[in-house]
Amino acid sequence: MRKDISSLHVPHNKHTAACVPQRIEIPAEVILPMNMHSGHDAEPIVNVGDHVKVGQLIAREEGRFSSPVHATVSGTVTEIATMPTANGKGTTFIRIESDGKMEVAETVKKPEITDCASFLQAVRDGGIVGLGGAAFPTWAKFNEATNPDYKVDTVLINAAECEPYITSDHRMMLAHPELIADGIEYLRTYMNEYLGNATFKICIETNKADAIEVLEKTFADKDYVVVHKLKTIYPQGAKQVMLYNATGRVAVSGRRFPSFGALIVNVSSLALMANYLNTGMPLVERIVTVDGPAVAQPMNLIAPIGTRISELLKVTGLKAEPGKVVVGGPMNGTAIYSVDDPMVKVSNAVLVFDEKTAVLPEASACINCGRCMEKCPVRISVAEVDRAMKIKNADAKAQALIDTGVRQCVDCACCSYVCPASRPLLQINWEAKAFLKKYAAEQKEKKEANING
Ligand code: SF4
Ligand code: SF4
Repeated sequence: MRKDISSLHVPHNKHTAACVPQRIEIPAEVILPMNMHSGHDAEPIVNVGDHVKVGQLIAREEGRFSSPVHATVSGTVTEIATMPTANGKGTTFIRIESDGKMEVAETVKKPEITDCASFLQAVRDGGIVGLGGAAFPTWAKFNEATNPDYKVDTVLINAAECEPYITSDHRMMLAHPELIADGIEYLRTYMNEYLGNATFKICIETNKADAIEVLEKTFADKDYVVVHKLKTIYPQGAKQVMLYNATGRVAVSGRRFPSFGALIVNVSSLALMANYLNTGMPLVERIVTVDGPAVAQPMNLIAPIGTRISELLKVTGLKAEPGKVVVGGPMNGTAIYSVDDPMVKVSNAVLVFDEKTAVLPEASACINCGRCMEKCPVRISVAEVDRAMKIKNADAKAQALIDTGVRQCVDCACCSYVCPASRPLLQINWEAKAFLKKYAAEQKEKKEANING
């Protein structure tokens, strides 16, 4: 019998699993960065002084994998400027001062869909992106299934939410199973040629018994929908891990996901896509879990995208001085510098650690124990990646890094978690992948220069 890829049993800390999401009061202002998706930054189409309404398009997509941005409160555009980002590049943001009315834009109306092309365009216009963390535009993911080289027979609806603390997808499944059902029907209807015979597997960890019950009831009469229960382990939600554990297929590096006969979509993305297609209201708000050792009252909140994190913390309160604030999960979320930063489309959680729990142990030399490789879901030895990163010659370094398989890393941080020498292994992987990306771009440039010259 095939064995699941299993990795770590991490403490779940799902303290907010029973917390019904509470809508926060309308924030005084929102800050909307133009890089809330994985492609090129969006381009503002409003000016300072403009009055905007909820759902109004304020920045259009720029390029194939970009995504539009919509106003999330009604009010006045008070600033368009640049803010720093973690990658050092910076991005433009639009600040909207709320008028407290939450007036809905006249443009918000159910999109007209007649076929696959108009369906994909609507998903694009709704600003829907992967809400599990990747922020890849959802329409582009679906569009890949139309490639005649692929034959998609399984749609994996990623409801694992395997990171500790986070319960926003869990609460979405309990609150809106009907939207998940609508999302599946939209795909079956408008992508019938490509997904009409596909099985839709809602992949959910067994620690969400109430959501499993709701979903099993919702889909009891739909033989093309399976509620696929998965062991509660980390990183069950990583797409390569989910593909193997739900279908037995192995994701090979360098190939697009649909080439394995599967599409994967986050459960909240699917539900919010259906909400847009049903009502015309784009992605303007989301559920965000606020938790962590320094949070007085862990909660799930519903907040407009762009709300400052400090506004969320005012609702939950703090019981200790924050030592570190992380957006996303504790394993592969991003630490932020200031609680004045806004929550963005992919902000499924805000975790606040106190000064004691935020201190990381000092890194020491690798003792070659092999645990990083043993616990890695894709069997990478980060100790080897670390050694390859020290090679001086760029060509030899690139080849050595490719040989380690680091391009398949799913950023789960299991290696960092188990390393007895407390080495910053996830960061080493990020640096290695950034080096390979830059190296590939340089090689391409050289090749083009040779052809043209
Ligand atoms: S190498 Fe990548 S995939 Fe493997 S455990 Fe580390 S972060 Fe996860
Ligand atoms: S887990 Fe840490 S100490 Fe052990 S081999 Fe990997 S990098 Fe070295």
